[in-house]
Amino acid sequence: MALRDHHLSDDDLILYFLENSRKQLDDNIRTAALIEQQTDPDMGWRRLIDNMKSYSQNKNVIVSVKGVPVHISLNITRTPSLTASTFELINARPSESPCLLCNLDEEQKGVLTLDDRYIILANPGITIPGDLTISSIKHESQLITGHFEDMIRLSELLTDYSIFFNGALAGASSPHFHFQAGIKDTLIGEQQINEMLNGKRIGDTHAAELFKTNKIAVYFIRNFLRSCYVCVSKDKKLLIDYYDQIYSHLLNIDREIAGIPNVPDFGHKIDSLGLDEFEPRMNIMLKYNPDSGIYMLAVFPKIFNRPSLYFEPSGKQIILGIAIKEALGHLITCRESDYNRLKQFPEIVEAVYTDTSLNSRLIDRLSGLIKSSKKLVIESSK
Ligand SMILES: [Zn+2]
Repeated sequence: MALRDHHLSDDDLILYFLENSRKQLDDNIRTAALIEQQTDPDMGWRRLIDNMKSYSQNKNVIVSVKGVPVHISLNITRTPSLTASTFELINARPSESPCLLCNLDEEQKGVLTLDDRYIILANPGITIPGDLTISSIKHESQLITGHFEDMIRLSELLTDYSIFFNGALAGASSPHFHFQAGIKDTLIGEQQINEMLNGKRIGDTHAAELFKTNKIAVYFIRNFLRSCYVCVSKDKKLLIDYYDQIYSHLLNIDREIAGIPNVPDFGHKIDSLGLDEFEPRMNIMLKYNPDSGIYMLAVFPKIFNRPSLYFEPSGKQIILGIAIKEALGHLITCRESDYNRLKQFPEIVEAVYTDTSLNSRLIDRLSGLIKSSKKLVIESSK
């Protein structure tokens, strides 16, 4: 069955619109109805229903790491993506592993969006109930090139959600192009970023301004354990110009990622995509507030998604993959022993973030380049 044949029309979803039925239908309402349909014990998607049961058994704890609260969870529903080796060197060739997004379960349904080029699906690996996978209808590579403006349009359509992107070596688990989305402001780090943009300090962590005009502001979040740049603007063109700047500066800096134990050198052949790496390693969050008209873009520059502890022999190993949810402060483990170690030793959490984020020397250079791009970003808007 082709991906678009998994689409549920408004008529198919009519039972699930509930109290929203009298409002004008939009993709937020359709998506909420889709989640109701997919978790319906009689009509829904068995894997998601089972995972919702497992999810209720999750263990959760908030740990303070150098004064920054981090959410640690034990969540077996995320085991497949946590253990996926799609973009690792030991990876099987693409022909040996069928694409999961091209081969959905029969009961797995979705809602077509953005000129029917994407299908919104429930994400079976549940970090927060309501999590989505937004998959390209056709099998194309997990590369953000040519897709950032789609990300903006999705943020405008799915205003109840934050839209996420994981680069190939920054935590994506499928080579098939997809975004993820989660209900806005539910992850602890996302809430912290909001607070810091309002001037609050969390321990030593705060939003340091890199440049600001009356149309755009760019910040580096200092002492946040992981590296994070945030841009807020009402002007879509300025947002795109800023994104183009950070993309190209980060790409130049990423060329220095070489010779780090267990980390693929930048530019190596990515087997599952069948091409040489050419995009910067990063996780991205984008959201749009229709009331204020403000877009918020967060970029997390990465070294790799696997921390060094992942490569330790069993007994010492911790299975972690640092992608956008982790960048937003929610570390997901799938083994009780890993959960307990992270809970007990905040210094391990700190090391995991340090290992996977761009180091401070390169961040200083990147911040300098971003500051110097102020003129370019502003002039382009004239
Ligand atoms: Zn595919």
